[in-house]
Amino acid sequence: MVDATRYDESLPLIKALATKAKATILLAHLGRPKNNEPEFSFAKIVKQLEKDLGQPVFFATSLADLQHIETGVCLLENVRFFPGEDAKEDTEKAEFLTALSNCADVFVNDAFADYRKSVSTYDIAKNLPSYVGPVFAREIANLAQLAVSATPFVAVLGGAKLSEKLDAMLSLAQTADKVLVGGAMVYTLLRAKGISTGKSRVEEDKIDVAKEIIAKYGDKIILPLDHALVPVFEDPGANIQYSETILDAMISVDIGPKTIDLYKKILADAKTIVWNGPMGVFEREATAVGTKAIGQAIGNNTGAYKVAGGGDSIAAINALGITGFNHISTGGGAMLGVLGADKFATLDVIVK
Ligand code: ADP
Ligand code: MG
Repeated sequence: MVDATRYDESLPLIKALATKAKATILLAHLGRPKNNEPEFSFAKIVKQLEKDLGQPVFFATSLADLQHIETGVCLLENVRFFPGEDAKEDTEKAEFLTALSNCADVFVNDAFADYRKSVSTYDIAKNLPSYVGPVFAREIANLAQLAVSATPFVAVLGGAKLSEKLDAMLSLAQTADKVLVGGAMVYTLLRAKGISTGKSRVEEDKIDVAKEIIAKYGDKIILPLDHALVPVFEDPGANIQYSETILDAMISVDIGPKTIDLYKKILADAKTIVWNGPMGVFEREATAVGTKAIGQAIGNNTGAYKVAGGGDSIAAINALGITGFNHISTGGGAMLGVLGADKFATLDVIVK
């Protein structure tokens, strides 16, 4: 885990349920396990949870474990360890859904960040009386502000992959006045424009869709003017070269100073700002420059309503000491999904 924000935010609800409900069963996910790898197991957080709650926690690792829970607090192993959670096949899904539904009377969803239609977040809400938790409710209230906020509305979108942010990009391109782009998704978009990207990360199979995005929204989407280049990805920063063109043998790992200046000017005039996705490889100090400068430029705009969100974005905000936001969302895709108001199927089921 890179950051404990989501755990910390969930604790007040868990504490309240642990004292008020006869039995509390906690469902959560971590990462994207493929074969139930130990690094994604919740075994390691049981002790911390017991400490935070001041009571013992039963760690359930199988569906059979759930059958006889009468009292106390139970933490189920990472829901993504159970094949039914995101199963395509109905029988696998049904088995998991039945096991979860049968062990509880009421379902509370406080996993705002997890907006996919999984069994533990979506299907179960159809089987049990369901409520949203305080984190979820606060997210919706704060994000609803965006819909009534002033213009110019500027979105800043970065991160690892264009493929993971396609919906976000499309919805922001429609709702925002400008979309400032950073992170590795830049290079797929540059390639779509026929600009060479050296050895930077490009999603070859997304170049066509990137071309469509550029053709349709090219006037709103602003791409970097210059780049921080390194000869090898792992380079700690000693050999950084700033350049407007990406040289053939080089890899771009951050936005450059001219881009920072341009984005800062646009952000200074904004009245509403949404930010998701780091501008560069922020995990290393030398290439956290763009993320820090843009994050702080957003925070410093005192006249705007400012929201940021996303797992790595929150990690960057905390690690780099960026401040000044009106709301920091626990969700990335979920936050942008609310803005697009298209992917939020979970809400239709839960908010009755
Ligand atoms: P979030 O979780 O906030 O939505 P993402 O998961 O989309 O953000 O992206 C974060 C990751 O993107 C970070 O690990 C960061 O190192 C990586 N990244 C950003 N810029 C680049 C780049 N130029 N090349 C490779 N990786 C990058
Ligand atoms: Mg991420």
